[in-house]
Amino acid sequence: MTSKLGLKHIQAIAPYVGGRPISEVAREYGLDESKIVKLASNENPLGMPKSAQEAMLKAASDLGRYPDSNGFELKKVLSERLGVPADWITLGNGSNDILELAARAVAQSGDEIIFSRHAFAVYPLATQAVGAKAIEVAPTDMFGHDLPAILAAVKASGDKAKLVFVANPNNPTGSYLKPDDIEAFLSAVPSHVVVVLDEAYNEYLAPEQRYDAVAWVKRFPNMILSRSFSKAYGLAGLRIGYGVAQPALTDLLNRIRQPFNVNSLAQAAAIAAFQDDAFLQQGYEVNHAGYLQLTTVFDDLGLPYLPSAGNFVLVKVGGDDDAGARMNLALLKRGIIVRPVGNYGLPQWLRISIGLAQENAAFINALRDILSTQK
Ligand SMILES: *Cc1c(COP(=O)(O)O)cnc(C)c1O
Repeated sequence: MTSKLGLKHIQAIAPYVGGRPISEVAREYGLDESKIVKLASNENPLGMPKSAQEAMLKAASDLGRYPDSNGFELKKVLSERLGVPADWITLGNGSNDILELAARAVAQSGDEIIFSRHAFAVYPLATQAVGAKAIEVAPTDMFGHDLPAILAAVKASGDKAKLVFVANPNNPTGSYLKPDDIEAFLSAVPSHVVVVLDEAYNEYLAPEQRYDAVAWVKRFPNMILSRSFSKAYGLAGLRIGYGVAQPALTDLLNRIRQPFNVNSLAQAAAIAAFQDDAFLQQGYEVNHAGYLQLTTVFDDLGLPYLPSAGNFVLVKVGGDDDAGARMNLALLKRGIIVRPVGNYGLPQWLRISIGLAQENAAFINALRDILSTQK
């Protein structure tokens, strides 16, 4: 269905494929919507925090007006907690927006953007959209980012290298990078190359895994830290995230963003969610328990999985390249939506977002049922 219109590098883009909506799966398989379990988009199974709902309802009465283009109130609370001035912060329509702004601000046709194989699907999209060339670096044995290899690729790219995307934890693999390794990487990357550290799942890190990325932003003028309100904060539908970088880089992002890229409801909800420590803690605990619930069963069934630092687990469901698609279909027929990751070069695996205990149990029952009929 390729049109003759448009730029070649845009025609070459394979559109992003998201988790399938519950309503669509219900229609297609003739299922009752209320019985469908969606573990496909790394959403927070607790939903949106009450505090954010209330803040959003209050803000709704003022929707006749444009949002605050500079997000003054939200930047104020972010700034206080993160310990950086407000002019170090860029708000985004989801952190996806920050990733795209970064690519548009620093790269164009003839340039190279570097990231790991099996990294987040938006990196190649953002790269292709600006006509730059994607350099995909082979992963570690455990499908994680190989930072020394990424550094070597940056150096080999020379002046063409403009941007590196690093996700910690990474989606869909759940892989985690140690802070010492990230710091060594940041210190070694040439200063003309911007590094985006994508921390969409940062809040799910175990206490012993945490580190101070904002301290790196203060040291490295070529770094952008990207965070999201879609995952641990439960605001995926509102579309809001933020970037932290030194003022010179932040100023570039600010010049090319849409003037009203973050809507009023999202800003109000994010202010409340960001300060709702109880919600964050509850989400962390639910996720930790769910991770154990799922991985115990994978161990029991002898299914290999990757240790995950996020709110999802990548599990290997077979040895042939149709295995993921086959298991996905069998699960869909039983009303369970998970994420096939063939488009990530992982056709033998499925990514399972961690849900509430009963949602995980529904998935486990369906999985056991499918495996027992396969034997
Ligand atoms: C989900 C995700 C994002 C973006 O989420 P937004 O909803 O746009 O904030 C960014 N990076 C990774 C690795 C993700 O998984």
